[in-house]
Amino acid sequence: MDTQTLNPLTESQIVEAVAAQRGEAVALLSELVAQPSLLGQEQGAQALMAREFAGLGLRVHEFAIDEDKIRDHPGYSPSIVPYDGRHNVVGIHRPAGAVRGRSLILNGHIDVVPVGTEKLWTTPPFAPRIEGDKLYGRGAADMKAGIVAYTQAFRALRRLGYEPAAPVYLQSVVEEECTGNGALACLVEGYSADAAIIPEPGEGVMTAQMGVMWLTIDVWGVPVHAAYAHTGIAAIAFANHLVEALRELETAWNRPAARHACYAGHEHPINFNLGRISGGEWTSSVPTHCRVDLRLGFYPGRSPAEVRAEVEALIRAAHAAHPQHDSVTVEVSYHGFQAEGLVVDLQQPAMQALMQAHHDITGRPCATRASTATTDVRFFHLYGHIPCTCYGPAGERIHGIDEWVSLASLHEVTAVLALFIARWCGVNRRAAPA
Ligand SMILES: [Zn+2]
Repeated sequence: MDTQTLNPLTESQIVEAVAAQRGEAVALLSELVAQPSLLGQEQGAQALMAREFAGLGLRVHEFAIDEDKIRDHPGYSPSIVPYDGRHNVVGIHRPAGAVRGRSLILNGHIDVVPVGTEKLWTTPPFAPRIEGDKLYGRGAADMKAGIVAYTQAFRALRRLGYEPAAPVYLQSVVEEECTGNGALACLVEGYSADAAIIPEPGEGVMTAQMGVMWLTIDVWGVPVHAAYAHTGIAAIAFANHLVEALRELETAWNRPAARHACYAGHEHPINFNLGRISGGEWTSSVPTHCRVDLRLGFYPGRSPAEVRAEVEALIRAAHAAHPQHDSVTVEVSYHGFQAEGLVVDLQQPAMQALMQAHHDITGRPCATRASTATTDVRFFHLYGHIPCTCYGPAGERIHGIDEWVSLASLHEVTAVLALFIARWCGVNRRAAPA
């Protein structure tokens, strides 16, 4: 397809249109960051996105996640919070005339991770603060700036008097940070396109992502009075013994010979995170119960089922190796991510077009990176067979304290996405500029 004939817009027209919207982009990002869209509390932010999509002249489709429709899907992860009242929001564009270009999904997750200890933040996490080029706040980088980028890219084209010549779907989904079931529900709902972009934070385009698994281990020990603690078995200490065994697996998977090629040069690709621990009942009693929640990374090409089998065998062996194993009960369960990894083929036309748009807007070659996290890319790539990658604004301290996003990067990514949409989908003249 000759995309040039479908796109009369020049790079400088797009850059100027995006520059003219800077104040509006920052205002929208601030408004979104001020919405504490933690797991189960995404409604306020999603209402804002429904308003934004309607303001772009899009048909707005809001729908709740129906777990019955996704439970048997290979991409499903066991949920941890009920879906009542928690909606995905999709803005649907269909060209007025004939479809001339290629269709596109722009996807972002509205949910944010917990703030950690709020007193460590310089200013409150849901009170956006701008200092120089940085906008601080939970979710600013991960990934409300990305949602603002694709929204404002679409708006810039409209302001220039054009609209995409192919269907475009702007998706704002819930629950990327623990299951991905929001994006999965969009796929199962029937949304498909010739390409999909997720503006997750990071430098350049993503070439690969890790598999990620959430794992819960429950241990029941032998409680006794602390005065003769040595006669009991402390559940907390026993859980720690199992976690240490997993640490050895983490080390083994990080060894150069065990690595996936995409991660050969990476500092520490496999990360097992002991994210939560709860246990014990009384300071003078040897603890009866301990629960540990771990996040395990694993390489592309391995299935979650295969990883579960290996990890469970290791836990069984570590349990059996303990001298008092007969008196201890261990249970393994899974809630949250059961996410397979993947490798993106950057030779696909959509990826090449995105990298070219980056080059033409910024004057720099587009960087590439293999991510040690998971993203919703897996639903498009593995199950929808839709070419997909992440490309979004740069930011830092995501999932940490004083998260921030670069506003210059937000505006740059917005312009790149606008140019990419114009070239990939082509554009039609609108009857009347918005
Ligand atoms: Zn994210």
